[in-house]
Amino acid sequence: MTISVKLQTLTPFWTGNVGKICDRVRETGIIGSLRWWYEAFVRGFGVYACDPTHSDCQGFSSCKVCKLFGCNGLSRGFDIRVEDSTHPEKIVDQQVVALPNDKGRRRSKWYFSPGHEGLLDLKITPTRCNEEELNGLKIVLKILELWGAIGSRTHLGYGVFQCINEGGEYNLSTEEIESGLANFESGNRTSNLPDLKFFFFSKLKLDGDFTNCIKRLENSLELRYDLRQLFREDNKLRYDIMGTIRGERRGSKIFISRVYQVREINEMRVWGWIPQAIENRSEVVDRIYEKISEFDQNLEWREFDSKRDKYGKASDVPTFVKENLLEVQI
Ligand SMILES: [Zn+2]
Repeated sequence: MTISVKLQTLTPFWTGNVGKICDRVRETGIIGSLRWWYEAFVRGFGVYACDPTHSDCQGFSSCKVCKLFGCNGLSRGFDIRVEDSTHPEKIVDQQVVALPNDKGRRRSKWYFSPGHEGLLDLKITPTRCNEEELNGLKIVLKILELWGAIGSRTHLGYGVFQCINEGGEYNLSTEEIESGLANFESGNRTSNLPDLKFFFFSKLKLDGDFTNCIKRLENSLELRYDLRQLFREDNKLRYDIMGTIRGERRGSKIFISRVYQVREINEMRVWGWIPQAIENRSEVVDRIYEKISEFDQNLEWREFDSKRDKYGKASDVPTFVKENLLEVQI
């Protein structure tokens, strides 16, 4: 019943220690990331998941997420082991990247700390959790592989990966998918915390030569710059969506990968969540969609209950996960 899979980096992993340096890939960074996404899934399916920063969850009377990931008085329901065969990435020019001053973009410098590239052997073994929960976790990992990233600083482009197992690609069986979807149950709650119903996922194909690692970063920075500019007249909205380190620190709700190569195609992915509480939410998502489309007219876009999703408007969340995100017809 153990999940055993290798993660191959497409963009470097970043999991920092207390000194904010990534000296190796840490289990805690992987677990933190899996938990954040598992929460978004539980809420997406309409079920309560506590806010881990203000949680009252305790022991067996806790929310669905704490039951699996542990909380006060309850250990984690699974054991996780990471065998780290990665190495520090080589970034030229002391990790400083200057955004080119074209298309009216202001020149600015970005500092990157090196992440780790290579192979990570991941083993997840149940200690208390059941098979459905483990399959739920497998679905989350698969969606991260297809549409997201893992570890810390994913908003800065780290942590895109490909799963590999003995037979090549890591695919889930019909039984694993059905069981994993059943694990998330169904309710009718919505939340202003990360909730899959309010996420979008996109992939862009890019033309050009990206053999230089700085070039792979530049596109990502240009898009981030352009998205910030979209909301330049409205500071509150901009800080809400793109994050800020001014005043009350807020994390970015938009995540933009670096350019990576997969099947000889240069690709970049952008995903994020715009809470339902954001005023004119649909219009905001539309502006983001239009801006990202400028980088690739034929971009792939996934979004629950939305006509922007060219794959089709899914009527319920399990169908959306199965057909639009996992792209399987059962
Ligand atoms: Zn909880």
